Amino acid sequence: MVRVSATVENVSVIGTGYLGATHAACMAELGFNVVGVDIDPEKITSLSAGDLPFHEPGLPELIRKHVTGGKLRFTTNLDEVGAWADVHFIAVGTPQVRGGTGADMTYVDTATTDLARAITKDALIVGKSTVPVGTAARLADLIAETKHPEVNLSLAWNPEFLREGFAVEDTLTPDRLVIGTTNTHDEDTLRSVYAEALDRDTPWISTDYQTAELVKVAANAFLATKISFINAFAEVTETVGGDITTLADAIGHDTRIGRKFLNAGVGFGGGCLPKDIRALQTRVAELGLDHSMRFLDEVDQINLRRRKKTVALAFDTLDQDVIGKKIAVLGITFKPLSDDVRDSPGLDVAARLFNAGADVAIYDPQGNHNAAKRYPRITYNDTLNEAVTGAELVILTTEWDEFKTLTPEDLNHKVTTRRIIDARNVLNPHHWENAGWTFTQLGRQSPH
Ligand code: NAD
Repeated sequence: MVRVSATVENVSVIGTGYLGATHAACMAELGFNVVGVDIDPEKITSLSAGDLPFHEPGLPELIRKHVTGGKLRFTTNLDEVGAWADVHFIAVGTPQVRGGTGADMTYVDTATTDLARAITKDALIVGKSTVPVGTAARLADLIAETKHPEVNLSLAWNPEFLREGFAVEDTLTPDRLVIGTTNTHDEDTLRSVYAEALDRDTPWISTDYQTAELVKVAANAFLATKISFINAFAEVTETVGGDITTLADAIGHDTRIGRKFLNAGVGFGGGCLPKDIRALQTRVAELGLDHSMRFLDEVDQINLRRRKKTVALAFDTLDQDVIGKKIAVLGITFKPLSDDVRDSPGLDVAARLFNAGADVAIYDPQGNHNAAKRYPRITYNDTLNEAVTGAELVILTTEWDEFKTLTPEDLNHKVTTRRIIDARNVLNPHHWENAGWTFTQLGRQSPH
C-alpha cells in the first residue's frame, strides 16, 4: 500500500450526534487534534465536560480520555475551526422531511455553506452524512460559490457504516472505507487520515461522488430488504404453520445468503434504515426512475405490518379488550445497546396500545428517558420487576441480553396472568408453554 506523508494535524467534525461525537473521539484516538462543532449549546457543554448525552458503549471513556488529554474539544464556534482545521467532516443529521418521504437536507446545506464561509485556510471538506445521490456535486458548487476566493476548498464523500452499539469499534476498525473524490490529492489526504486502517489492509474503495453516496443507501436498502424478506415468510408461517427460525437457519447456512439480518420479529427501526429506504425511493423518483426502487415500498410496508401484527396479537391475547389492562412492554429502543428510540418498533407498539386504552408499563435499560420525551403520558419503570408486576400481558420488543435470558420462573409470581408475546423470537417457546404461559411469537401460528 502506498503511504503519503501525513500533512493532516487538525480535524473538525461538524455535528456531534451519534455519528459526529463518535467520529470526533475516534479521530482523537488516531492522534489528530480534534474539535467537534454543534449548534446545540447543551450538547457542547455536556461533551466538553466529558459527558455523553446519549448511550454508546465505550464512547464516554474515549471522550473523557481525549478531552482530559487535550486532543479533543467541543465548540459552537465555527469560525474557530475555519481558521484551524485541515480536514472538516460533515456529520449533521439528514432526517426524513416533515410531511414527506425525502431527506431533509437543510442541516447539511446550512452546515456546509456556513462552514465554507468560515474557512480561512486551504482545507478538505468531507461529507459523512447519508445523503441522496447528487448531493456532493451540488454541495461542491455551493462551496465554490460561498468560499473566500483566496482559499482552496475541496469536497470528498466518505459515507459512514457504523452500527449504534458498536460505533467505536466500527469507526476504529471499519469493514471498508469508501471515498468519493474528484482528484488524487484529496484521496491522498484521506489516505493519510485513515493510515492506521490502511496498514491493517482495510478495503479501500476509491470512487466518484455518486458511487460513494449510493454505496451507503444500497447497503441500508439491502439490510432492510433482508429483514423484510424473512418477515414476509413469517407472515406465511403464521398462517400455514412451520418454524420461521429453522427456516432462517436453513437458508442462512447457504454462504451466498448468510444468517445475519434474517431474524424474524417486529422489524427494523432507528434513525437510519426506515428513512434511508424512503429517501432513496424519493430520490430515484425525482430522477424519473420511480420503478427502480418500487420494491422498497413493499419492504417498508412489510416492516410496518409487523408492528400492527404485534398490536393485533396483544388484542387477541387479551380477548380483544385491552382497556385498563396492564401490559408490560420490555424494550423500546430500536435495538439493544442504544438509547435511540427514533422510529422504534417497540415504542410504536407501546404507543398504539396506550392509545387504545391499555395501562402500558415500559421498561428499557437505556431508552426510557428518550421515549418519555416523545410519549410523556405512558408509564416508564426503572426496573423490569416494576414493569411486569401485576401485568396481564408481557411483550418483549427489543432483544436486550437481560430479556433474552428471562425464564418463566423470573416472572411466574409477578404477573397477574401468564401471557407473553416474544416479538423478537429470542425465547424458547417450550420453556414458557411448559410453565403454563400463553406464548406467542411472530412467525409462529398463534395459540389463540
Ligand atoms: P443526530 O441527530 O444524532 O446528530 C446530528 C447533530 O447535528 C445534532 O447534534 C445537531 O444538533 C447537529 N447539527 C445540525 N445542524 C448543524 C449545524 N449546522 N452545525 C453543527 N451541527 C449541526 O444524527 P446522527 O444519528 O449522528 O446522524 C448523522 C448522519 O449520519 C445522518 O445522515 C445519518 O443518516 C448518518 N449515519 C448515522 C448513523 C447512526 O448509526 N446514527 C450511522 C451511519 C450514518
